[in-house]
Amino acid sequence: MMPTGIFFYYQQGERLRDFPQALGEILEKDDVFLYDAFYPSKPKSSFDLEPVAIEALHKVHVPEMVDRVKATGNYEGALYSAAGTLAAAVRISSGEIINAFVFTGYGDHHAGSDFFGGGCYFNGAAIAIHELQERFGAKRFAIIDTDAHHGDGTWQLFERNPTVLYICFCSGSSQEKNHNVNIHVPFRVRDSSYLALAKDTFQKWVKVFEPEIIFWNWGYDGTIGEYGDIGLSPELHLQMAREIRKLADEVCSGRLIIILCGGSRRDYANFLIPRIITILAKLAMV
Ligand SMILES: [Zn+2]
Ligand SMILES: [Zn+2]
Repeated sequence: MMPTGIFFYYQQGERLRDFPQALGEILEKDDVFLYDAFYPSKPKSSFDLEPVAIEALHKVHVPEMVDRVKATGNYEGALYSAAGTLAAAVRISSGEIINAFVFTGYGDHHAGSDFFGGGCYFNGAAIAIHELQERFGAKRFAIIDTDAHHGDGTWQLFERNPTVLYICFCSGSSQEKNHNVNIHVPFRVRDSSYLALAKDTFQKWVKVFEPEIIFWNWGYDGTIGEYGDIGLSPELHLQMAREIRKLADEVCSGRLIIILCGGSRRDYANFLIPRIITILAKLAMV
């Protein structure tokens, strides 16, 4: 079986403080590759991730916005966050790995062509899609977004682009525009209803669209006790991971990139991330 890639850069903050060590024996498996990035002050590893080149950023974000991100002081972290998604997409397309989990410090989906916010600076999925189009001639992409909030940046970037199916689960009203699909999720939703909604909607859309690769903007900020709490249990995310991996197996030979988005709790990160990577790498499927 083709390996799973884990893309990781060393960052500050609470939520990922225990990583990569918290992955434990996952890192020793032959079917898992770790690609990491060190800040310049740290020694080099054999799998260094390079930050995203400025030319690649400018294909998605206007130069003036990139300058504004530089002024926030989070530029380096934003570059490495997007770099993980870009590198994962390239390595999947060149046949080195089958799927990937990307640790980010700053997520994707609130970053549009000329705006950013909500802890998102650059849209890694959009940058990766540009690269796959240009370098590999890929033509069809799906982005599934289950962060609790609406992905206004991703929506704006793809609302006139029929080559990308974007499905966003959030509290906004349900609508559909040119393969951008918003699915309304009620507040205080039960796990079973959420899962049923997922099966009824994104499974159907993705199967009809037939993407060559699926990006999953996975946030856990809708989990009980999180800042975007809509009542989801931690286990729901594992069920979703099983469903989405199965869908990728069916539709695009397993090509799937999970991008860590919202969520702040360290205990949830420690519980969920190793389990989701286990599902992705089919290490111990139950
Ligand atoms: Zn969010
Ligand atoms: Zn939405």
